[in-house]
Amino acid sequence: MKIGILGGTFDPIHMGHLSIADAAMTQARLDRVLFIPAGHPRLKQSEPQASIEQRLEMVRLATADETRYQVSDIEANRPGPTYSVDTLEELSATLGAGTDLFFILGLDVLGQLDQWKDPERLLGLCRLLVLDRPGEQDFSWPDFYRWVPQAEGRVQVIDAPLVDVSATELRGRAAAGESLAGQTPGAVAVYIGQQSLYQQKS
Ligand code: ATP
Repeated sequence: MKIGILGGTFDPIHMGHLSIADAAMTQARLDRVLFIPAGHPRLKQSEPQASIEQRLEMVRLATADETRYQVSDIEANRPGPTYSVDTLEELSATLGAGTDLFFILGLDVLGQLDQWKDPERLLGLCRLLVLDRPGEQDFSWPDFYRWVPQAEGRVQVIDAPLVDVSATELRGRAAAGESLAGQTPGAVAVYIGQQSLYQQKS
């Protein structure tokens, strides 16, 4: 069983996330994609605006129609900052042998690898599926492989149609009272309205 892991803040989930999950699933022939919202994302400047319960609910709503997408609350209740390596370790212990884990991430996140906990160990637990993201032109693959030689042969670049949307932009649109149509699934847009989320600019 090949399982893709898509971690994120999902504050809120949007079409960019769904597009990378879809592209990763097709191109790496994954059986499932597990969406894992982070309780306290470590590499973000500020705490998420929506609670972890609200972010989990938005991910559930966005993925409800695709049976190969699942949502995990494994990082939801972990106190303190979230480290991907701990999550992957826990998942590989629970899922056991016969499961191959593929960590899906954008080039923006890979560019921050020097700030990760134990990248060598992480690469022992999973392969990386890396997606390009608008505005990430200055990433250097030679520098990356010099930094983590263990990554050699364990990285697959995924081509996804560029979806130029970010959670930051969506929060801004919500705060300005603008429509979120086309940027996040309808059910998520409705939920954001019902919960009065993102009323203030971040
Ligand atoms: P924010 O704008 O608040 O920083 P975000 O839109 O980057 O949020 P995250 O939940 O932090 O969303 O992202 C989770 C993962 O999804 C990261 O690996 C990120 O690189 C990737 N990602 C997010 N948006 C896109 C996009 N439009 N295209 C490709 N990858 C994306």
